[in-house]
Amino acid sequence: MKTYLVTGAAGFIGANFVKYMLGKYEDIRIIILDKLTYAGNLGTIENELKDSRVTFFKGDICNRELVENIFMQEEIDYVVNFAAESHVDRSIENPQIFLETNILGTQNLMEVAKKFWSTGKDEFGYPVYKEGKKFHHVSTDEVYGSLSKDYEIPKELILDEKVAKIASGRKNLKTYGEKMFTESTPLDPRSPYSASKTASDMIVMAYGETYKFPYNITRCSNNYGPYHFPEKLIPLIIKNILAGKKLPVYGKGDNVRDWLYVEDHCKGIDLVISKARAHEIYNIGGFNEEENINIVKLTIDTISKIMKNEPEYQKILATDVENINYCLITYVQDRLGHDARYAIDPTKIVRELGWYPETSFEVGIEKTIRWYLDNQKWLNNL
Ligand code: NAD
Repeated sequence: MKTYLVTGAAGFIGANFVKYMLGKYEDIRIIILDKLTYAGNLGTIENELKDSRVTFFKGDICNRELVENIFMQEEIDYVVNFAAESHVDRSIENPQIFLETNILGTQNLMEVAKKFWSTGKDEFGYPVYKEGKKFHHVSTDEVYGSLSKDYEIPKELILDEKVAKIASGRKNLKTYGEKMFTESTPLDPRSPYSASKTASDMIVMAYGETYKFPYNITRCSNNYGPYHFPEKLIPLIIKNILAGKKLPVYGKGDNVRDWLYVEDHCKGIDLVISKARAHEIYNIGGFNEEENINIVKLTIDTISKIMKNEPEYQKILATDVENINYCLITYVQDRLGHDARYAIDPTKIVRELGWYPETSFEVGIEKTIRWYLDNQKWLNNL
């Protein structure tokens, strides 16, 4: 039986990961450590907290004594570090907490794991670790900076033969530019958030070099799916459409992001933890580059279609179904230093571990919208 310490599991991706793992593995223990900031929500994991395989600790990943206590009480096999301050706009307003949690918190977790996992030293003075222990750090494509947008009209994305064969469930892929981020793209963060995540990646890699500390890093693109806090684009748009409110879109709405369905992401993390060699870094992307404005339009179209075809959902609306149209879109002043384009090349994880993003955006966005329609209580309780 493996025991996972999952930090930040009352947040969006961490909660989805815990649900996925408990569903997939019978014989597993999950220890959750979460500070329950504004982004943490116990309601998201209320069923999981009743599961005898789960133990919850409320607290800060920066708290040495608390983290040591957890390692003293539990034989942790894997740390999966989701805990972070994760919203770029908030990092522009108040960068300091991002540096504390994202950098010092990560370092604190590793320091304690190093202490409890090491059994002695080898002949060169490097720590020797108990078999099978690993620290999994969840990072972001934003550490690579921004890519140029070379095409106004996207072109077909051509995959290499082996990747195309494994990812045969995905067709008609497209791209807005000539380059994509690979694991060897130089790190070039541009916001306080991405700078803090880059610093955390680098301190993880430094522990790998200096102490032979066993780690993996995954860098993912924008996630979407159930339980997403409605300050991020897709859940905010869904919430506002249902409330009949305006839909704020930064600048001209032409920034490009790659969108990854959260369950596909969780599958990728599980594979990396269980199959990847220590000290490897993997990009996890969705094969779905899209301009923000098109995401907003598709969300409007999908909600409008559902409301018209299944009128029982109209009781959720605080507006008339006819008002769900592009007139809701309102362009607002652009974010400071807004990155133009992110595009993840996940070739390495596809080729080495056989993972690919199974969920097309059309399928994923409809699943996500239906989840919000069916879980109004969760949304209203926030
Ligand atoms: P989130 O903001 O929804 O959740 C973060 C969780 O961490 C919350 O439950 C919060 O209470 C907890 N937390 C914050 N500070 C803490 C601290 N000091 N100690 C303990 N817990 C703390 O974040 P998310 O969207 O689920 O993202 C999870 C991870 O994935 C983050 O590391 C983020 O950088 C990364 N990531 C997210 C996305 C995305 O699209 N959401 C994309 C790329 C990378």
